[in-house]
Amino acid sequence: GLGTWELDYAHPEKAITTKKFDEIFGIESNFRGEISSVIHPDDIEIRNNAHKEAIKTGKLFYEVRVNKDETIKWVRVAGKVLYDKNGKPEKMLGIADDITGQKNLQQQKDNFIAMASHELKTPVTSIKAYGHVLEQMLIKKGEVKEAAMMTRMDTQVNRLNNLITDLLNITKINSGKLDYNRSSFNFNELVLEMTEDLQRTAADHKLIVSLAKPVTVVADRERISQVITNFISNAIKYSPGSEIINIYTEVNDNEVTFCVQDHGIGIDKESQTKVFEQFYRVNDARHQTFQGFGLGLYISSEIIKREGGRIWVNSVEGEGSTFCFSLSISQ
Ligand code: ADP
Repeated sequence: GLGTWELDYAHPEKAITTKKFDEIFGIESNFRGEISSVIHPDDIEIRNNAHKEAIKTGKLFYEVRVNKDETIKWVRVAGKVLYDKNGKPEKMLGIADDITGQKNLQQQKDNFIAMASHELKTPVTSIKAYGHVLEQMLIKKGEVKEAAMMTRMDTQVNRLNNLITDLLNITKINSGKLDYNRSSFNFNELVLEMTEDLQRTAADHKLIVSLAKPVTVVADRERISQVITNFISNAIKYSPGSEIINIYTEVNDNEVTFCVQDHGIGIDKESQTKVFEQFYRVNDARHQTFQGFGLGLYISSEIIKREGGRIWVNSVEGEGSTFCFSLSISQ
């Protein structure tokens, strides 16, 4: 079911395509110019950028919508650049695949997750509120042990709440509907706020904060706090038995960098490049003993990218990891 094509960089207008390729794109002949006229106008940029990128990396990959007689199809294109002996791009060979069915299934899955997680949110919020009232009543009665159990229950309810929020966010990212409410805020204040909150629920860890001079950032404060929480919660989760977690910021002329360093189980080199992918979890026995969906870092990286920043990790297996992101400073 794949269409194939070949392009000579010296004569890009004379691309050779198979019949199946023409069928997938709904075009009549081997004429390349027509392809951009059938691609959805909002997706043409995606295709153009993919071609520019391919000249640099040698690999082409993109997914676009194609309009055909009022209906919309999804097409995935992949290709490989062949270079001449001087390293100049000479030809490109590739395939095209109709992925409309897959995309529709993915959409149904996302709709279901969005609906289910939305419905789950209300009872969880209610459990949290009643738990809080009960805790206060127990404290008043002097029932310290029982009150402490309520605190532990609250920690678990928070975890459940975070998971539900992650699921909701993922469906919003996939459909491009994650909204951003940007404001200008003091970055250090946000870090201190989040650290204090998280220290309360992390009895076995010490969060040591070291901050550079205060700076103002223009971004979605709520979403940045989500990234900070994700980094710190992961550091706590993946470093059992090692107490110290260092949280620090660095400031240079136009950027502030935020890092969280733990001394936990670490991440092997190959997985380090993948931990920011959707649903990726390091596949080894040590990591698998911790529960998770592999969504937190993906959401974090989407947020930081949308805010125009960078996100990365340095890690040594068995020694610990340092997760960082940087954002522009508002002058
Ligand atoms: P989750 O923790 O829910 O699985 P994340 O997206 O937050 O999802 O993290 C993805 C994966 O990256 C984790 O499953 C884990 O294998 C690895 N990871 C994340 N943070 C750390 C850390 N501080 N130390 C070691 N491994 C980590």
